Amino acid sequence: MTAATCSAGGPLDTLLARLDGVRASGRGWVAKCPAHTDRSASLSLAEGRDGRALVKCFAGCEVLTIARAVGLELADLFPERITDKSPMGRAEAREAWRQSGWAAALGVLAREASVVLIAARQLAESHPLGDDDQARLRVAVERIEGAREVLA
Ligand SMILES: [Zn+2]
Repeated sequence: MTAATCSAGGPLDTLLARLDGVRASGRGWVAKCPAHTDRSASLSLAEGRDGRALVKCFAGCEVLTIARAVGLELADLFPERITDKSPMGRAEAREAWRQSGWAAALGVLAREASVVLIAARQLAESHPLGDDDQARLRVAVERIEGAREVLA
């Protein structure tokens, strides 16, 4: 870790500490994405004004997938204390949290549904699924279950 990441102790620091290939870039950081085989540093990270960790994988990984790949949940990317304590500020922060969780969960559902579709097509053409394909389908089911937790 560099000195700069030790200063705040917020959600971004928690995340950075679990990533490989972290280096400063502009106002934020770049790192290797833990959610896909990342030879370059596809992950862009910054701290939002409200203290949340802003994460973007340029290969298209969902934030939820990235968080889970390093043992975190979406909630871990948000500061525990919402700085704006007015009822309106808290409602806004809550809504922002819900929307980002929903967007991530819906992205997972869309992608995993296409995995299931590919498997169904293969079976429809009377090609049995290999072990790898079956394992991938189990992952799809787990991810869809995970998305359900977020959306519930
Ligand atoms: Zn990625």
